[in-house]
Amino acid sequence: MKIHEFQAKDLFRNFEIPVPSGKLACTPSQAVDVAKSLSGPPWVVKAQIHAGGRGKGGGIRLTNSLHEVERAADEVLSNPLITPQTGPSGQKVRQLLIEEGLDIDREFYLGIVIDRRLECPVMIFSQAGGMEIEEASAKHPDLVLLETIDIIHGFMPYQARNFFYAIKPMPDKDILKGFSLITGQVYKLFISKDCSLVEINPLVITKSGRLVALDAKINFDDNALFRQRDIAELVDPYEMDELEVRASQHNLNYIRLDGNIGAMVNGAGLAMATMDVIKLAGAEPANFLDVGGGASEEMVTNGLEIILSDRRVRAVLINIFGGIMRCDVLARGVVKAAKEVEIKVPLIVRLEGTNVEEGKEILKNSDLDFSVAKDMEEAASMVASQVR
Ligand code: GDP
Ligand code: MG
Repeated sequence: MKIHEFQAKDLFRNFEIPVPSGKLACTPSQAVDVAKSLSGPPWVVKAQIHAGGRGKGGGIRLTNSLHEVERAADEVLSNPLITPQTGPSGQKVRQLLIEEGLDIDREFYLGIVIDRRLECPVMIFSQAGGMEIEEASAKHPDLVLLETIDIIHGFMPYQARNFFYAIKPMPDKDILKGFSLITGQVYKLFISKDCSLVEINPLVITKSGRLVALDAKINFDDNALFRQRDIAELVDPYEMDELEVRASQHNLNYIRLDGNIGAMVNGAGLAMATMDVIKLAGAEPANFLDVGGGASEEMVTNGLEIILSDRRVRAVLINIFGGIMRCDVLARGVVKAAKEVEIKVPLIVRLEGTNVEEGKEILKNSDLDFSVAKDMEEAASMVASQVR
């Protein structure tokens, strides 16, 4: 799960990691009010979207008057923000973080992730921080330093010193204390909140010698959200795919993809195999949807409704192997969904397993228009021929 910069900075404050003063605003006039309450000019107007690269896309504005704050806020709120991470249509900005502007002397990168191969957290530091960190570190791999962390001991002070003493030219020694504190606290935050990423880019030294986290990015392990209730509450539904939100409310495993074949399948393995045969038949799935092994009639109805609300879907393939889930339950769910939403696209059904005859009978006796495939291969080629 991802959160916004302002939420990440609230967490930083709780962990005593220094951040600029700032507050959220949702309108240009609120932005001006917030700016008035902060020291400045300058002030920074920062678009709050999950995608990175906001600076490059014009979502981070340094302003020198209240009038400029108002204008920047208006511009950022009225146009979708396009960054290298948003895709070409961009992302609507609903919230702005207004901050005191700082006089930057140097920009560093500090991050922590799990290294799956080493099976431990790794802290990453680069003295070439700031925008385009990916390009900078590709060009200067020697500037990227790694410290693997033994979770029995945690992040050790000498590891912070390894980073600090490598900085050229080395900053004032007074800053080392703050630097050790920040690295240690970043590790503490990472572990105690079940993060999968904590990133400060840039971590800056200001001209007046303050060490401050100017940006903040935190991702969390979704599988740990059950024990991080306060974190789970930070979710922003506007940043999620609308259909994925609906699916999760109905306990369906649904992931939206780029193709145009809607697929409803029971069991993750069968769902993956179904996506493979669709691709082999020369078509592209519009989604991954596993209604689950023991899906109810209601879940089938909801699943099919979600697939049909995806406007890109031009044909639907229902591929069910009745094990715990019975084919008659599936059939009743499909018929019910068809009553609630009109099915305007071709529907291909492949059923096998428990109560298959009963299921087929229910479908046949409904006024549903559908084709039956005898096996998966035929189902895939039938559905693919509909979109060719
Ligand atoms: P990102 O592009 O989404 O990573 O957004 P950041 O929050 O990292 O901001 C991008 C860049 O804007 C930073 O690398 C800084 O160079 C610049 N920036 C952000 N805040 C300030 C500030 O208070 N003062 C100055 N001078 N520059 C800032
Ligand atoms: Mg940044």
